[in-house]
Amino acid sequence: MLFNYICPECGKVIPADTPVWRCECGSYLDLDYMPVLDRSRLPEEKSMWRYSQVLPLENINPALSFREGYTPLVPMEFWGVPVLGKLDYLMPSGSFKDRGAALMIHKCHEMGINEIVEDSSGNSACAVAAYCARAGIRANIYMPAGNSSAKSIQARAYGATIHLIGGSRTDCANAAIEGAKKSYYAAHAYNPFFLHGTKTVIYEIAEQMGWSVPDYYFTPVGSGSQLLGVYLGLKEMLNAGIIDKMPKLMAVQSNLCAPLKEFSEGRPLSTPVSQSIAEGIAIARPVRLKQIIEAVKETGGDFVIVDDTEIVEALRLSFAQGFYIEPTSAAAVAAVKQYAGKIRQNESVVVSLTGHGLKASAKIESLV
Ligand SMILES: [Zn+2]
Repeated sequence: MLFNYICPECGKVIPADTPVWRCECGSYLDLDYMPVLDRSRLPEEKSMWRYSQVLPLENINPALSFREGYTPLVPMEFWGVPVLGKLDYLMPSGSFKDRGAALMIHKCHEMGINEIVEDSSGNSACAVAAYCARAGIRANIYMPAGNSSAKSIQARAYGATIHLIGGSRTDCANAAIEGAKKSYYAAHAYNPFFLHGTKTVIYEIAEQMGWSVPDYYFTPVGSGSQLLGVYLGLKEMLNAGIIDKMPKLMAVQSNLCAPLKEFSEGRPLSTPVSQSIAEGIAIARPVRLKQIIEAVKETGGDFVIVDDTEIVEALRLSFAQGFYIEPTSAAAVAAVKQYAGKIRQNESVVVSLTGHGLKASAKIESLV
């Protein structure tokens, strides 16, 4: 297919069929690709592959997918604010990361790669391992020791080899880079194909809302693979004339690990001393930090900081309405409380419910 990787730092252009994972200068890569969705050509299929017109793959191989996506968008209410919950925790491996892994592993398969390395705090590991099982690709997953054991069990059950690394997330990423020297580093934080997969969530939401977008979009942010995918999809739909405005992107982080707010205010990035129960967003140095901040600012959004007490309250309110989500997802719900007085009655709000509670039973047990 006629598109390239492009480096946002040094401008280097690399054909997208090259098995590189970052630029020689060290930066992540983006794709020079701006597809236009023709809504009159949408298939009957109600899955993320409904939008294959705007996905950067040569051929879609149905044997590599689970017909995943087109998750429900369901009315909920928090602190008197009506919101729409996007139930991406219902994806095959139990999180929104399946959208990104579906694309990234599809591309690896297309390039003839038969072994990959990934580093993840949990949900990405499960997603990548599931798609590797589907594609017959050997998966080596580097995980920080001490994260939810349910996630490492799930990834191992799919057949992945798990390498538990002590220390910080950065130590884990470094171990993965070392381990990837003999195979391909399918790093979800770097890989732009991953973002082109996660962008399908906003195409679905737009279609579910009658080809419009909400005024606010609340999402937890760790490496930014949800927020940046959404931003990418919004830019494409804006360029295609499908929508005429972007929602305010509300990037939610824990007070125990808040690099976005620190960086956006020109403060030095702190090192987290203890970990929030929202383990999925405990990433002290997101690879795409600057890009996330630009996306939030361009949309008039905000960086919202929540603490564990607020997360637990949001979790309990979600459970009470029948939504069994993990604490990281509840961080996005908790952020709505801080905005309850600012959201006007005629404004629409989507909250991204990113991960399944069944993966976090051990933590939830102590709360209920
Ligand atoms: Zn570069």
